[in-house]
Amino acid sequence: MVTRKDVIVVGGGIAGLTAALSLAHKGKNVLLIEKNEDCGGLMNSFERDGFRFEAGARALVNAGLVKPLIKTFALDIEILPNPITLGIEDRMLKIDGEQSLCLYADVLKDLYPESKDEVSRIIQAIHEIMQNMKVLYGVDNPLFTKKKRNVLTLVPSVVAWMLKFLRTMYRISQMDTPFEDHLDDLATNQSLKDIIGQHFFRNTPVFFALSYFALYNDYIYPKGGVGAFIQKLVDAIVARGGELRNKTEIVYVDAKNKMLKDAAGNEYQYSKMIWTGDLKALYTITRDAGLERRTLKNFRTRKQAILAHKGAESVFSVFLGVDLPPQFFREKTSGHVFYTPNRRGLGTVHTTELQGLLQCWDTVQKEDLYAWLETFCRYNTFEISIPVLRDPDAAPPGKTGIIISTLFDYTLTSRIRDRGWYEEFKKRVEELFIATVSSSIYPNLEDQVLFSFSTSPWSIYERVGSSEGSIVGWSFEGKIPVVSSMFNMGSSVETALPDIYAAGKWVYSPAGGPTAIMTGRIAAKQCK
Ligand SMILES: Cc1cc2nc3c(=O)[nH]c(=O)nc-3n(C[C@H](O)[C@H](O)[C@H](O)COP(=O)(O)OP(=O)(O)OC[C@H]3O[C@@H](n4cnc5c(N)ncnc54)[C@H](O)[C@@H]3O)c2cc1C
Repeated sequence: MVTRKDVIVVGGGIAGLTAALSLAHKGKNVLLIEKNEDCGGLMNSFERDGFRFEAGARALVNAGLVKPLIKTFALDIEILPNPITLGIEDRMLKIDGEQSLCLYADVLKDLYPESKDEVSRIIQAIHEIMQNMKVLYGVDNPLFTKKKRNVLTLVPSVVAWMLKFLRTMYRISQMDTPFEDHLDDLATNQSLKDIIGQHFFRNTPVFFALSYFALYNDYIYPKGGVGAFIQKLVDAIVARGGELRNKTEIVYVDAKNKMLKDAAGNEYQYSKMIWTGDLKALYTITRDAGLERRTLKNFRTRKQAILAHKGAESVFSVFLGVDLPPQFFREKTSGHVFYTPNRRGLGTVHTTELQGLLQCWDTVQKEDLYAWLETFCRYNTFEISIPVLRDPDAAPPGKTGIIISTLFDYTLTSRIRDRGWYEEFKKRVEELFIATVSSSIYPNLEDQVLFSFSTSPWSIYERVGSSEGSIVGWSFEGKIPVVSSMFNMGSSVETALPDIYAAGKWVYSPAGGPTAIMTGRIAAKQCK
């Protein structure tokens, strides 16, 4: 049987959901196809033994987008605060607006008294970027306002904001060098530079990396978890007449005849299609026969560029159920923490030493790997999420669920799998993560652990089909094969194929939740 639709959206992550909802809202005959049993992709929540966890993003970055999205589509969801704590060794700083930057400077100067001037220079750079962020994210994004985007119809204050916005965008476009280079210009103390930057993806553009201090104030947590927000989007699509088909993987695209096929052999005919999965997959499964000559040439050139590049680093996450009350944790931190147990920093552990390990992989023994892993855990920076500190319903009474994660290399993970060490390795990581927080931020936690389990870059690859288990699309190392200038974001959703648009973390760089929402919205507008 062939299903016919005006618009088919492939992928039910936040980009696909935003696109499908925007279209259903306008009365389009839209079908959203998702390969997993549930929607959300890298934004979801799940429950284990009465504890609620987020498998993907631990919270939402509002970015002038999420709240307007909720308002525009009248989603009935309560938004809770999501305060961030920054911690290094025993210094904990609960971020509370812009003024916290000065306190952060004090913490750093205390930890690195020999580098006070360097700290000042770095803090000044972050401060300047925060001023730009106020313009960029401080106002609800016009993509979700109901007004027409004709500048002449906009009220003067919005026009003034637009001018400021454009100036800011220009400044940002000038700050696209790797943050490591920028830090090298500001400081020589390697440990200090590590502490500032070791939880960012390699070669992250300086604007994006240093803007994170501003984003700490912009996180929000939906009551019921990130998954509850996703469910509201799903419900809203269905309520507006949109159709959802889960457990359906698209494995074939016939670009000439505008036809899709799923893994079970069902066929779908579209007038327009929005692809939100991995772009490598789109360009690989698309049959290009019969395309007009120029389109075909363009398609093959784009395909070559896309297949040649790789995804950014991935994440290793450890999930714990702990027999300790939320109060134990509340006394130390908020429910969302970026924590470094040792001021020394990673140095070359995650760069040269990792490369060394991979280069002589065939001769690496398990003990070599575990020795590297121990150092990696001791000096790393961890993102720690404690849902129950934001939403009291997230854990059984008197108990606490915790997620501890850090950036992790996909290649290393897949080689560990090839050697048959995967399950043992995961347990080892769990033990080390627990030992690390237990001997630092949350003393003696290890005695109260009820259960632990973990996900790796491989789990992310398996769940959403993301190349290299990437959570934010393309690696910043090498030439990025998609749009990476804010000025051209509008064109990022175009593919080389007729009536096929793309959205999500692979179509624009740098990416993340906000980019996925924005491109989902832009792609939907192209399909009206
Ligand atoms: C641990 C973690 C922490 C994060 N923290 C942050 C953060 O703090 N800030 C931030 O901005 N971002 C963060 N992110 C990243 C953010 O969650 C993602 O970038 C964003 O959710 C991507 O949305 P997407 O819709 O583009 O892609 P995805 O969420 O990957 O959705 C794509 C969907 O398409 C489906 N699909 C793929 N191929 C097919 C096919 N052939 N047929 C049918 N369906 C298909 C997949 O199953 C998936 O559901 C984090 C992610 C993780 C994992």
